[in-house]
Amino acid sequence: MSTTSVDTLVIGAGPTGLGAAKRLNQLNQGTWALIDSSEEAGGLASTDVTQEGFLFDVGGHVIFSHYTYFDDVIHEALPKDSDWYEHQRVSYVRSKNVWVPYPYQNNISVLPVEDQVKAIEGMIDAAEVRIRAKDAPKDFDEWILRQMGEGIANLFMRPYNFKVWAVPTTHMQCKWLGERVAAPSLKVVVSNTINKKVAGGWGPNATFKFPAEGGTGGIWKAVAKTLPKEKLIFKKRVEKVDAAGHSVKLNDGSSIKYKNLITTMGADYLIDNLDGADPADVKQLKEAKEDLVYSSTHVIGIGIRGELPPRIGDKCWLYFPEDDCPFYRATIFSNYSPNNCPQADAKLPTLQYADVSKGKPTDNSPKSGPYWSLMMEVSESHLKPVDAQKILAETVQGCVNTQLMQPTDEIVSLYHRKFTPGYPTPSLKRDAALAKILPVLSDKYNIFSRGRFGSWKYEVGNQDHSFMLGVEAVDRALYGSPELTLDSPDYVNGRRNTERRLTKA
Ligand SMILES: Cc1cc2nc3c(=O)[nH]c(=O)nc-3n(C[C@H](O)[C@H](O)[C@H](O)COP(=O)(O)OP(=O)(O)OC[C@H]3O[C@@H](n4cnc5c(N)ncnc54)[C@H](O)[C@@H]3O)c2cc1C
Repeated sequence: MSTTSVDTLVIGAGPTGLGAAKRLNQLNQGTWALIDSSEEAGGLASTDVTQEGFLFDVGGHVIFSHYTYFDDVIHEALPKDSDWYEHQRVSYVRSKNVWVPYPYQNNISVLPVEDQVKAIEGMIDAAEVRIRAKDAPKDFDEWILRQMGEGIANLFMRPYNFKVWAVPTTHMQCKWLGERVAAPSLKVVVSNTINKKVAGGWGPNATFKFPAEGGTGGIWKAVAKTLPKEKLIFKKRVEKVDAAGHSVKLNDGSSIKYKNLITTMGADYLIDNLDGADPADVKQLKEAKEDLVYSSTHVIGIGIRGELPPRIGDKCWLYFPEDDCPFYRATIFSNYSPNNCPQADAKLPTLQYADVSKGKPTDNSPKSGPYWSLMMEVSESHLKPVDAQKILAETVQGCVNTQLMQPTDEIVSLYHRKFTPGYPTPSLKRDAALAKILPVLSDKYNIFSRGRFGSWKYEVGNQDHSFMLGVEAVDRALYGSPELTLDSPDYVNGRRNTERRLTKA
């Protein structure tokens, strides 16, 4: 079987691998290749299309960039204004059968009075605890209690986060939080509640843009097109990494030798398939790997006939902490781009009504639209099992329960796919585990394990971060440059990172 050789080999054509490839191409230092087991670029930032023509991302994907270099690359790939739709973030939490504007804690004025009292009492207690506290909170649960108190913890934060992460908040650390969770002001909460006011948007993604064509996956296919085609190898899986021999073995029996390896495979898969490393290192890597925790993500998509109902309006994404539905988040995916749905003149038969107890549709003939669509995410772990046979039906019923759909809505397309892994959990032992894994691989074996599951840090696991993890890994491998995104998440998340540009090396 053939053996080829490159200076730098990149495994994975998701955002991280494409970031590495883009940088290698720009720097033009030595030979390189990128390999992916899939048919095309995108990884977890891909988009599927149902046979009826509805597009669904791997859950709600919104680009928010901290990096000028990332913006340069995205602009190069999709340069025209018409390549994008610009949106205002319109986001709510479904709580006690009403839509509470996000952020929840600033908008409790819309809740029943007894819940307002619980929330405010909890916030007063939390303020007292904060004054007395000498140490940092020991876990995410304690952080929630200190920031928001027992009331909001029980109404929203604990149940919602269990639905997202599929582990209790006591199993999670709190260092990852940074800018992601809005710290509430007691003054604003009390004033809004008394004045029956709702507070506006918060956070870095108050506005966002979404590709006009091809969903989120369209972005990454366009980025891949800016790279030399002959260096991108698809439909080949890396089965073994020989750490001492500096080579990888593929599923077709061939091998590729490298000087530097940038891998975006799961760090756990890499360790399980690593040959040739020092036995003491193997022992340390295998032990540490056991402390890396992940959850799976089920994505359920629903295509619906009819005009977008006014009750949905311009909502973008919605959070669901309660147990009247299995999903933690729903995205009104047809609101992101009209091309996420078939055009109104496409004729599709009705598969079922939203409420199946209404019976089967009697008329199965294809009829025209218009259409709109919903995309839901459900997490799964050994602590939160999901019945894969039932989850689609339970999700549809959950949409009726939460008034996303009316019982007689005509469903014309159904989509369900499970992604394992989906979320890298910021577990209590994660940082200690990563400290035993990543430096050993890079410093002793020139293996740079990076990306959402390569370096397992959720706080730098979005598309912009992932892309830059790849870019920075190349600079580290070639020049020994520091990797700020990997090593200083709070720093890169708290600023605009302008150091690198696509036009200058
Ligand atoms: C539910 C969900 C919601 C998200 N929401 C957002 C969001 O709102 N905003 C945002 O910016 N980001 C979001 N993300 C994150 C975004 O998808 C990730 O940043 C990104 O996909 C991670 O890129 P990556 O390249 O590190 O890994 P991946 O996308 O997982 O890519 C890894 C690639 O490696 C390939 N590979 C793996 N093993 C092998 C092997 N053995 N041989 C060959 N190839 C292999 C895979 O095929 C894949 O293409 C979300 C992710 C999920 C799952």
